[in-house]
Amino acid sequence: MSTDVSNKMIVPIVSGGIDSTVMLWYLKNNGANIVEAITFNYGQRHKKEINQARTIVEKFNDVFSEKVKHRIVDMSFLKELIATGALVGDADVPHEIYDSKTQRVTIVPNRNMIMLSIAAGRAVTIGADLVAYAAHASDYEVYPDCRPEFVQALDRALQLGNLWTPVGVIAPFVHNTKAEIVKLGIQLKVPFEYTWSCYEGNDRPCLECGTCLERTEAFLLNSAKDPALTDEEWKLAVELLEKHKQEEERINE
Ligand SMILES: [Zn+2]
Repeated sequence: MSTDVSNKMIVPIVSGGIDSTVMLWYLKNNGANIVEAITFNYGQRHKKEINQARTIVEKFNDVFSEKVKHRIVDMSFLKELIATGALVGDADVPHEIYDSKTQRVTIVPNRNMIMLSIAAGRAVTIGADLVAYAAHASDYEVYPDCRPEFVQALDRALQLGNLWTPVGVIAPFVHNTKAEIVKLGIQLKVPFEYTWSCYEGNDRPCLECGTCLERTEAFLLNSAKDPALTDEEWKLAVELLEKHKQEEERINE
């Protein structure tokens, strides 16, 4: 978290999940001027995330007395074009702890490149300085487009491709783990209860997909209950995490 964002005009990509929500609060707390938030609907199963993203931008505007516009970009054409993963295609969402093999099925090919290119075009159009996205260290192994090398290369490409109208990309959490992001969010009083992480498209989190398990672990590491869950759900979530950890240990033995 080293980029100076004070007084920068920023277009953040918000997904409705934990990382981009904490990023929104982080940017605001560091003096950034959030000009417009973008959410991409790439035909993913978790449409619920898009509704949560809408709610989160509303809450952000309430808390900070802002009037940030929220733009939802329909990318559902990607479903036909390049869908192979569990998030947009027909594959099952893996119910295992995040690791590089099991979670690769959730990759939407070249997703961040596509989203960031569109967001950068929008940023230039409305005179913003930067696009921000919430790539973080816990995603490195699975998603190459969450690595610092990718962020740096894309930032350079955007500069070269928009020489007369400079625009860049930042990923303020690129060196942080999920647990560190949750910790920061707790400090910044982020309304986690409105965030959504589950990859299954149900009304309540399944508590057992890779992202649900990762979320539970991140709150546990901060000795905090996930505010999005009821007491009963939280108890079950902790039990399921324990169960999956034991299974993983058995496999690794
Ligand atoms: Zn889930």
